[in-house]
Amino acid sequence: MAKETKSKKRAKKNKANSPKSKVHKLKTKNSKKEESKKAESCQKLVKKSPARQRTDDTIFIVAGESGVRVVNFLGDKKNVSEFVIADKLKLDMQTIRNTLYKLHTHNIASYIRKKDRQKGWYISYWTFNKKRIKEIIVNMRNMHLEKLRERLEKEEANKGVFFICPKACARLDFDQATEFEYKCPECGTLLHQQENLRTIEHLKEKIKEIECCS
Ligand SMILES: [Zn+2]
Repeated sequence: MAKETKSKKRAKKNKANSPKSKVHKLKTKNSKKEESKKAESCQKLVKKSPARQRTDDTIFIVAGESGVRVVNFLGDKKNVSEFVIADKLKLDMQTIRNTLYKLHTHNIASYIRKKDRQKGWYISYWTFNKKRIKEIIVNMRNMHLEKLRERLEKEEANKGVFFICPKACARLDFDQATEFEYKCPECGTLLHQQENLRTIEHLKEKIKEIECCS
């Protein structure tokens, strides 16, 4: 212990006198900056509420990353010029127009057009249609549910009579397996009967989860 404190003191003395100490200080300053930057971006990620996250995810599916940025920028603002959007988000007009077009196709953003008196051309002014997001989320959820239910129906209708290739090339139901004489249509290996109870349970759980939690 005593040894350690002595050597620490010595190190401090040396540092204070050497030109290296300045360099060291600069380095820590920069790394601190980087750290705080990291923390900031982490916070941004953590801070998003589940509702906001869901909105962003939905917009991302429809209009990509630039769509998310445009919508977040528009927020509650009304009639924002397409040029202002491009300028603030530092995106080129082509990207902005493509993105706005996608958002408009899904009715997520609406616009009005006005003629610019000085320039003589038309400019579009955009507003985010917040209500539409909820509708899209509900639609997507219903479509997902429908697919899962169809899948479940098929699994239940073929309970215990699915056939799988041991080399994992194919999975066939009873009718298909009979048609191929219980041989893999890809490699010809004899098919194995597959228990699908776990698949059925898994599908049921997933359906339940979506039904009650969204
Ligand atoms: Zn096979």
